[in-house]
Amino acid sequence: MYCPNCGHEVTEESKFCSNCGASINHYEYFTDNSTQISWEKKDISNAGYTVLGAFFPVLGLIMFLCLRKEMPNTARSYKLGFIIGFVLYAIMALLFILFFIAFLK
Ligand SMILES: [Zn+2]
Repeated sequence: MYCPNCGHEVTEESKFCSNCGASINHYEYFTDNSTQISWEKKDISNAGYTVLGAFFPVLGLIMFLCLRKEMPNTARSYKLGFIIGFVLYAIMALLFILFFIAFLK
């Protein structure tokens, strides 16, 4: 782990930093919310979002509309998924209608 004051590497057991002398508060270190926020705000294009958007086009569209300003890369993945999902569902619906018409004849 690292000293929260100066960033100097310190051992897990140490109570004070060997470099600057700051007290190492283990509780504060593990509940550091700055790293948590940066993880939550991570804007990455991910194939997982595309697959999710393809399976649930409505969700993909909603996520795209919600994230397009804050997380453009993530939103792009959802948008791609939405397009793929929308086309797939449209083809399936079309095939279903065609089979239905053929069945009625
Ligand atoms: Zn230090």
